[in-house]
Amino acid sequence: MFFDVAIIGSGPAGASAALKLAEKGISTVIIEKETLPRYKTCGGGFAYRGRRKMPFDVSEVVEKEFFRVDAFFKKAGVHVFSERKEPVISMVMRDDFDKFLVEKAKEKGITLLENHKLKNITFAENIILHTSQGDVQTKFVIAADGVLSPTAKLSGWKETRLLIPALEYEVEVNTEDFKRLSKSVRLDFDAIPMGYGWSFPKKNHLSIGLASFRKVKVDFKKLYRAYLTDTLGIKEIISEEMHGFQIPVSPRTDSFVKKNVFLVGDAAGFADPLTAEGISNAIFSGIMAAESIIEGNLDEKLSAEIYNNKLNEDLIPELKTGLRLSKLFYENEKIRNFLIKKYGDSICEGMTQILMGERTYPKDINKKIKKKLRNAIFS
Ligand SMILES: Cc1cc2nc3c(=O)[nH]c(=O)nc-3n(C[C@H](O)[C@H](O)[C@H](O)COP(=O)(O)OP(=O)(O)OC[C@H]3O[C@@H](n4cnc5c(N)ncnc54)[C@H](O)[C@@H]3O)c2cc1C
Repeated sequence: MFFDVAIIGSGPAGASAALKLAEKGISTVIIEKETLPRYKTCGGGFAYRGRRKMPFDVSEVVEKEFFRVDAFFKKAGVHVFSERKEPVISMVMRDDFDKFLVEKAKEKGITLLENHKLKNITFAENIILHTSQGDVQTKFVIAADGVLSPTAKLSGWKETRLLIPALEYEVEVNTEDFKRLSKSVRLDFDAIPMGYGWSFPKKNHLSIGLASFRKVKVDFKKLYRAYLTDTLGIKEIISEEMHGFQIPVSPRTDSFVKKNVFLVGDAAGFADPLTAEGISNAIFSGIMAAESIIEGNLDEKLSAEIYNNKLNEDLIPELKTGLRLSKLFYENEKIRNFLIKKYGDSICEGMTQILMGERTYPKDINKKIKKKLRNAIFS
């Protein structure tokens, strides 16, 4: 079997790349180790910045829409929120959402090989992908196989991303608690050191989780239990399913293309460094990789060059700023609380603009932050 492009992984990055390539008639295969629909550990909060750029309507797989997001800073005694006319966050379950995206790509003619686990790669004249169910030959590989990315490892990348631990529970609570908690999306920044806790209501249950943005030794399960009872006030748990995974919140530092392998989404480390929201950038980078192969007329060198240029123009500077902000936000609790007390509303508004896709992180953040800090301290 030969395809011009083989995409490893059928998450939002892989499906979006596949759709773009199929629209141009490029022979494309998605190789996926699971059978769809498959569960993916994720809060399923799809920010409007991703949704507004989707080439088709996704409402069929949206369980709930939230036009307001509430953020709590318990230690600073601050509660901020901002609202929009469009849904700031749309709630999806990733099994349905991802399958829906893949179906759209299939409609355009891609091949999906489910239950095919990538096991090894031979780099010869063509790239040979050895899967659990036989070999596939290709010219280009798009590695959309998530945070663990076996493709990146097999292609020679070393680990340079910042990987953070996150815990996600799918929780069914009693009617009274669900009625109360299903009305809002909330983020609690003191639920865990250097991170936050979230309550994301779905159609019939709550996705509740915790992520710490730095490597800290904490008892996640204990903090989760305290978050559930002390903060969310949940009285009765009807059912509860625990999932733990990692999120890459900083981009790789040693290239995104090697030997005709293009890294996208979590494989590249493109989740937002401040919020860990990764679906939007998975979609954007998947599209960028596909566009680069198309615009480069399937020329290896040119396509790689175009992808690097696109990333350096549209994504990397933003992620680097996000990384600096996340350092200030998560590593300096005193300064953060001071700023939150003083500028909570405008910080919340700024973050909402980013989640909405109304703006990106500013490029000259160092100067801006220093100026704001100076003004805040001396005014
Ligand atoms: C606890 C938690 C909560 C999160 N909450 C949110 C949130 O609310 N909002 C948000 O935007 N982001 C969230 N994220 C981040 C988000 O889930 C990821 O950034 C996003 O899924 C990345 O998409 P992707 O397409 O790059 O990879 P994935 O969605 O991880 O897809 C990778 C695919 O590759 C397949 N694969 C892996 N290995 C192989 C192999 N050897 N062979 C073939 N196939 C393979 C997998 O089965 C999978 O289908 C969360 C992450 C975690 C861990």
